[in-house]
Amino acid sequence: MFTKNNTQQQPEEKHCYYCANNCNVDWQDTQVLQRFFSHYARIVPRRSTGLCAKHQRAASRAIKRARIMGLMPFVKQ
Ligand SMILES: [Zn+2]
Repeated sequence: MFTKNNTQQQPEEKHCYYCANNCNVDWQDTQVLQRFFSHYARIVPRRSTGLCAKHQRAASRAIKRARIMGLMPFVKQ
């Protein structure tokens, strides 16, 4: 009676921003990195950003690099 119609397997949409757009993480591109940055200037976890493991790691590294270079804040002003 309650059968799930999961027989047809369709390719899943890519939720990762970098995989979907097929581009690399750039620490100078703060416009994009802002997406993975919370209101309190914290790096958002992967379950919220939707990034894949590889790009989440790269994005967090990029944000840390941008912070040191003065492009992004460490704490909320
Ligand atoms: Zn990815």
